[in-house]
Amino acid sequence: MKNLIVIFSILIPTVIIAQYPATITSPDGKLSVNIVVEDGKPLYNVSYNGKTMLENSPLGLTTNEGDFSSAMRFIESTSGEVDKQYSQDKIKQSLIQYKANTLRCTFANANEKQIAVLFQVSNNDIAFRYELPKWGETMACVVLKETTGYRFPSSTSSFLSNMMGSMVGFARTSPSYESGYRADAPINENLSSEGYVFPGLFKVGENGWVLLSETGVRSLYCASHLSKYENGIFTVEYPNPTQNNGFGSNGAQIGLPGITPWRTITLGETLQPIVETTISWDVVDPLYEPSQTYKYGRSTWSWIVWQDNSMNYEDQVKYIDLAAAMGYEYILIDAWWDTRIGYDRMKELIAYAESKGVGVFLWYNSNGTFNDAFQGPMHKMNTSIARKKEMKWLHDAGVKGLKVDFLAGDKQETMRLYEDILSDANDYGLMIIFHGTTLPRGWERMFPNFVGGEAVLASEMLVFVQDTREKEAFYASLHPFSRNAVACMEFGGVFLNKFLNKGNTDGQKRLTTDAFQLATGILFQNPVQMFALTPNNLTDAPELALNFMREIPTTWDEIRYIDGYPGKYAIIARKHGQQWFVAGINAEKTAKELNLKLPMFAGKTVTIYNDNQKKEIYKESVTVSDNGEISITIQSNGGFVITD
Ligand code: CA
Repeated sequence: MKNLIVIFSILIPTVIIAQYPATITSPDGKLSVNIVVEDGKPLYNVSYNGKTMLENSPLGLTTNEGDFSSAMRFIESTSGEVDKQYSQDKIKQSLIQYKANTLRCTFANANEKQIAVLFQVSNNDIAFRYELPKWGETMACVVLKETTGYRFPSSTSSFLSNMMGSMVGFARTSPSYESGYRADAPINENLSSEGYVFPGLFKVGENGWVLLSETGVRSLYCASHLSKYENGIFTVEYPNPTQNNGFGSNGAQIGLPGITPWRTITLGETLQPIVETTISWDVVDPLYEPSQTYKYGRSTWSWIVWQDNSMNYEDQVKYIDLAAAMGYEYILIDAWWDTRIGYDRMKELIAYAESKGVGVFLWYNSNGTFNDAFQGPMHKMNTSIARKKEMKWLHDAGVKGLKVDFLAGDKQETMRLYEDILSDANDYGLMIIFHGTTLPRGWERMFPNFVGGEAVLASEMLVFVQDTREKEAFYASLHPFSRNAVACMEFGGVFLNKFLNKGNTDGQKRLTTDAFQLATGILFQNPVQMFALTPNNLTDAPELALNFMREIPTTWDEIRYIDGYPGKYAIIARKHGQQWFVAGINAEKTAKELNLKLPMFAGKTVTIYNDNQKKEIYKESVTVSDNGEISITIQSNGGFVITD
């Protein structure tokens, strides 16, 4: 019943007064963080195996109660340990052991007001946050700005996605974390005036890889992002004040004593710690109990290929039948259902779906006041009164979950809306997926009924934009090392149509192979997956691909980095129960021959789905050698899956 149990957790503080400069190392001793104060500025630097990953980088805050970024003095540090084991059934790993050393450094400003920075350092992750005490009678404070920064060695290259501007794009719904990526760019070329979204991936010359993000953001703070590269550093930047039509502050209002969200740094000599990190969830806890056991799974949705014209009763029946034929748990009925199907007939449709063993997700426009998105249903999610009335109807009608769209912006008031929707939905037994949205920051663990977030240039852009189709493999090769490493990603993919439209005879031609599409079903992780299959695929898609999609899981027990380079190719392994799936894709112009070490398959007979030289999907059975080595060729814009 309870899917979010902390099994074991201890925290052992040991007080060491005024040890300066302060140093904290990981349990294995390889990762080291030093904290110093220079010219009144608190700084930290990071090394791994003796190699510099971050040079002296600033710490600090500016508040309406004083400046905590300059004229600072080191007071004391306190060290301790965290040892926590927890289970989590909707992320990349189901049972997690988190061991970290901790160091809490206290500083005082020119007016003798104190703040502390708490560092938790595990073998490949640093999480730190600011802790603000009560200053005398002062129990409320506004954090205006953060000086936290990241100063990389100059040889560093970056893999970043631009933060979108405010109130632009479709119906003025941006920013929505859908701007694509630039790979391997020299850091000094990162001059996007809006900065960059989390997570940000960096290759520190030959020293290794670093992934920057944040976690634990909820109603009590704004979400943040990386600034443009300026004066040799990236800094933590709060939302652009022009988001939400300029309404609402862009800092954070907190009660004292209070804390900021966690800033996270994942690093290592290879990409392995980045693919396998669980830091987004290690340092947060569930905010409430699930009101019921939420069941994750696979879904069909007509909107992605058949678009707005399919928002009618008859086409939805076809997609319910498709879900039933595939053995899928859900159908997502997208925008316009409120007027084109209507509430009364929707009840009939839900009953029909139920008779086929298919649960229903319904789409909602988040909009009340903050953009021009016009698709219905509207004005049902933005106030508590309307929301609870609607959710009662949804609960009574047997709806299982909602997809709430167009929540652009990272201000604290928008974080409140996310939290309120999630919390109310749990009261009515509803799962929530957000689209047109910010990056989920620890939400899979914090909110038991949160089951997915878009925050990516997703499958819809493959339908709409030729450039996105041309870069499909390029973007796919980045996600396991960046976006999908820190949060689930509701991409809405796996197309088996040759053309991404209802006719499927010409038009928006898919440029990747069928095996590539299957591979993304494993590569991209989200506990509920809305797949882009269409009713015609039951007769026009290869039977072996359909059979694979009938058996594909969406929840995972383990993950392993296998190989890859962001922007070029990606190969990862996921385990569901006792079954391993190794999936890879190739974004380069030529076929790639690789010798992979897959110890999970040593001596076993496995099934391989791959493309032949004509880029047609085939399936073969192969016995892997006892040392687990296997050679595989991945076609350009192709992919493969190996499973036992
Ligand atoms: Ca979107």
